[in-house]
Amino acid sequence: MRIDLERVRKLAEKVSDVKPILNAFDERFFPEKGVEKELVTSYFLFLTAIDHRTRVDNIYHKEIDGELFFGSDLLFRLAKLKYNEDPEFYTAKSMERLSFKEFKEVFMPEGVTLRDPDLRVTLLRDLGSKLIRLYDGRTINLIEMAEERIKGTPMKPGLLELLKSFIAYTDPAEKKSYLLMKFLERRGLFSPKDPENQQVPVDNHLIRIAIRTGLLRLEKSWYPLLRNERRSTLEEDVALRLMTRAAFKQVAEEAKITPFVLDDFLWSHGRTICMRDGPLCEECSIRTACLGGGSWFSWAKEPFNENWYY
Ligand code: SF4
Repeated sequence: MRIDLERVRKLAEKVSDVKPILNAFDERFFPEKGVEKELVTSYFLFLTAIDHRTRVDNIYHKEIDGELFFGSDLLFRLAKLKYNEDPEFYTAKSMERLSFKEFKEVFMPEGVTLRDPDLRVTLLRDLGSKLIRLYDGRTINLIEMAEERIKGTPMKPGLLELLKSFIAYTDPAEKKSYLLMKFLERRGLFSPKDPENQQVPVDNHLIRIAIRTGLLRLEKSWYPLLRNERRSTLEEDVALRLMTRAAFKQVAEEAKITPFVLDDFLWSHGRTICMRDGPLCEECSIRTACLGGGSWFSWAKEPFNENWYY
């Protein structure tokens, strides 16, 4: 597996003028402006902890107030509806004692099935109980301990290292940790002094785009995985995601944009254009940077691995 430097350059040209898309103040999904810091940081910490694959048989969607939400958007939309009723739901004390019934009432309303709900409850309880034991139950204490650093040292850990105490944030490729930092940064709650350590939070969409564009060049021995003929091992999954992360870091540097802004574009592109089934190559804004103009690897699907990391 290697990073194709020619693709880095071509993709960078295509994305150099992309702008941030994620609006972390969108009141359909997130707490409104002016809310107390502790409540907002807790909301993002808990929600990001359970923001991994949501669909069962490719379905996790619901229409709310005439608008159709799916996947991660639905998870946050339902979370926000609960927040509107009871913001204290997203506190360490409440999460430590979270019951399956309470979780189901919020995230699995009638007719909606969510993947691995038991696991999500476990991740939330673990977060709640460790926040109480390690940080006096306050998320803001955790953020302050990082002293505006992404990475630190064993003596003075940054946010990346501190988050690893929680099961939800133990991913070796740190997808949820970087996603959380992106939310907090957009809300003005985390302004790292070491922006050079910023990375894209790698999920399915980013892996797929890295493979299809040829940014990541894989040996033929990987092809059965790209045809989903078998599941990937955790080692293969992590290797692929770390290389995807490194490749997009190079693209962001070359394009002179931040990895978080690049992630906004890639995530949206993966959901709406370079979709898993039936990519819309004719409508693709990065088509001329894609290997063979989209004709070489558009058949490839990201390998599947069973985990709660992304
Ligand atoms: S050209 Fe097709 S395969 Fe390539 S990035 Fe665009 S949608 Fe995906």
